[in-house]
Formats: sequence, C-alpha cells, structure tokens
Amino acid sequence: MQNINNYDFAGKRAIVRVDFNVPLNEAFEITDDTRIRAAIPTLKKVLASGGALIIMSHLGRPKGPSEKLSLKHIIKRVEELLGTPVKFADDCQKADELAANLKPGEVLLLENLRFYAEEEGKPRGLAEDATDDEKKAAKAAVKESQKKFVEKLASYADCYINDAFGTAHRAHASTALIAKYFPNDKMFGYLMEGEIKAIDQVLGHPERPLTAVIGGAKVSSKIGIIEHLLDFVDNMIIGGGMVYTFKKAQGGTIGDSLVEEDQFDVALRIVEKANAKGVKLYFTSEVYATNDFDNNSEKIICPSNAIPDGWQGMDASPAAVEQFREVLMNSKTILWNGPVGVFEMPNFANGTNSIAKILAEATEKGAFTLVGGGDSVAAVTKMGFADKVSYVSTGGGAMLEYLEGIELPGIKAIRE
Ligand code: AMP
Repeated sequence: MQNINNYDFAGKRAIVRVDFNVPLNEAFEITDDTRIRAAIPTLKKVLASGGALIIMSHLGRPKGPSEKLSLKHIIKRVEELLGTPVKFADDCQKADELAANLKPGEVLLLENLRFYAEEEGKPRGLAEDATDDEKKAAKAAVKESQKKFVEKLASYADCYINDAFGTAHRAHASTALIAKYFPNDKMFGYLMEGEIKAIDQVLGHPERPLTAVIGGAKVSSKIGIIEHLLDFVDNMIIGGGMVYTFKKAQGGTIGDSLVEEDQFDVALRIVEKANAKGVKLYFTSEVYATNDFDNNSEKIICPSNAIPDGWQGMDASPAAVEQFREVLMNSKTILWNGPVGVFEMPNFANGTNSIAKILAEATEKGAFTLVGGGDSVAAVTKMGFADKVSYVSTGGGAMLEYLEGIELPGIKAIRE
C-alpha cells in the first residue's frame, strides 16, 4: 500500500475510482455536486504531481447502457472544478487508445461502469422463473467475464487510487477487485483517508467521554451498529422510532407508536449488554405524540413510556432535548447516526435539528464530532452546520457497515 502524498505520479497514469453518483434533474443538470467536489483534492493532487488521470465511477442503478445515467452529463462540472478539459470514453471497456495517449496533466473520464453487469458481478436479465441451476450458471458466467472487465480497466493505468468511500462496502470490480493488479501501486485518495481517520478517531483512540447518538426508525436495522458501539462508548443516546420498541419491551405503554414486536428480546439484550459494560444508556424520555401521522396534526407531550391509545410518538420533546444536551455537552467525542424524530415533517424536526445544533456547539467547545448516515448528514447540512462539526461522512451505507465493525472490501483491497 502506498500513500498518495509520497507517491511519485510523474509520467504515470492513475486510474481513480470516485463516487460521482450525483443527483440529476429532468434536464440532466446536477442538483447537488457535493460528491464531485469531495473527490477534487485527490484528482488535483495527481495532476499537480505530473500524472494523468483516468476517472471511473458509477451513476445510479442502470440495468445496461442508458442515456439518462450517462456520466457525460457531468463532464462540464468536472471540467469547471478541475480547471482543465476532460476527455470522455463513452464505453469504459473501449478506452485503450484514449488512455494510452493521455499526457501528463490530461484527464479522461470513463462512462458509467454499471452499464456493464460485470462491475457489480451480478447477473442481469434473468427470467423470474429461472431455476436455481440457471441462476448459478448466470452467476458463474458474470464472474468469468468480470475478470476480463477488471483486467481491461487495470490495463489503462500504472497505479490505482480508491477515493469512493460511498461504495467501499461493495466488493465490486472497480472498488475492490482491481486493486490486486496494482500490488505496489495502490492507495487511498484523500476522501477515503479522511473518512478512515475520522472513524478511527472515534473508535480507535477517542478522547472520552465518548457518546453515540443513534436514531432511526427500526431496532432491526440499527442493532448491528448499537451492539458494536457498546464495546467502545461511555454513553449511548437512543432516539427516534426505535425507542418505542424498547419502551414496550420494558412494559411501557406506547399507544400507536412504531413498534417491532419481534425485536423485544433484542431490545432487552441491548439494555443488558449496556449495563454489563457500564455504558450509560439514554432514551428519549419525553416525546411529542400525534393522533395522526401528519405534519399539521395536533401534538401533545407525554413520557415515551406512557403514550395514550390512538397517539404515536413523533419527536423528542424540548425537555428530552435538554437531557441530550447535558450528556452531549459533557462529551469529548460524539458520533451521530440517525434522526431522533420524523424530521421530514417540519413540525416534528425539532429534536433532530437540535441534535445538529448541539453537535455544532460541542465542536466549538472542543469535542470531536462525527456525523454519518444520510438523514443525519441531511439535517446538519440543512441547518447550515456542516462546517461546524468535525467531520461529515460522505458514505451512508459504507459508514454504517464500518460502524458495525464490518471490514469494508474497498478498504481491505488497498490494505492487504
Ligand atoms: P433510519 O433509516 O433507520 O435511520 O430511519 C430514518 C427514519 O426514521 C426517518 O425517515 C424518520 O422519519 C424515521 N423516524 C424517526 N423517528 C420516528 C418516529 N418516532 N416514528 C416513526 N418514524 C420515525
């Protein structure tokens, strides 16, 4: 494994996996270029060091070539941000000549990798009634042609950089398999390095107290994260729709709130594990409840374990937010994932927005704060606090898996 800062790019062609999976509107205009901007430092570093760039990415979930999901729509923006022209290979498997002719300082963007099933290595177009044998054969066929696909991509370049944290949890051709063609010339880009460093600062050598705020709708989808984090944290705040499963499992009354009855055992096990580990567990103690799942419905305040029939918990109350604040302002390291209420409805977004604000305050006071996961990132960004917390992760699913303690294929492939 090499380091992007020391690597000698002069006269070399670097193939860089980025995550340019940006949202486009009907007119194919980029509506949020955050992901492109996030990769620019790495791309500029290669160019400034005398290298040439071959950029590869996926866009959306095409089932084959698609005008709508062509990366040609983003060329202009990449050119603007890099300040240099960008050549385009409209077939990522037929770029030999363009790649071979690249001169130092030049940039080539490959068409959407996922136009080929080989990128993900999953068969496409299987009949719904395909037999198990047919499925097996189709899978084996893709795996076989995947080798050629990866070899072709690797043949374009002298070194490989992975800067796509958003897809690091996938063992795809361009995110993992390609690395083995560059045993001595593979490295992380700055974005990947930043993500890994931020998580290590939380789980590896945190300043304590370390507090995790975990929100979201379901225990079943957060159990992996919660269990893993209990091995690291001093405090854990659990908020959002999952709270009611815990409260009901413990004998509370939760009215019509979200509940997963099949997770009661899991919930009780988490509480037990926290106790055994000496982790202080805080749940939303008091909530806004409504009698209709609607932004404009009536709301009442009640304890989260005493919600009347016909009402459902929607958001943390101001008193509950104050309790969170006290724990958070006394923490030196904070990790936040998941909304603590139905934040998509403005009248039930106060809890989630308040967490964003408290994290900004805690950061100002000297805490290291890491925000990960689509909804929490959206909340800090919307509140204008993205620059006021220590680190905002760009990878939703990848960050979640990392926090669950899963070794991400994209990271492993570079390290091993
Ligand atoms: P997750 O994807 O598991 O992080 O969950 C995010 C979702 O949880 C958001 O769409 C929130 O609206 C939802 N959520 C948070 N609190 C509640 C609640 N009290 N009742 C229902 N849904 C909730």
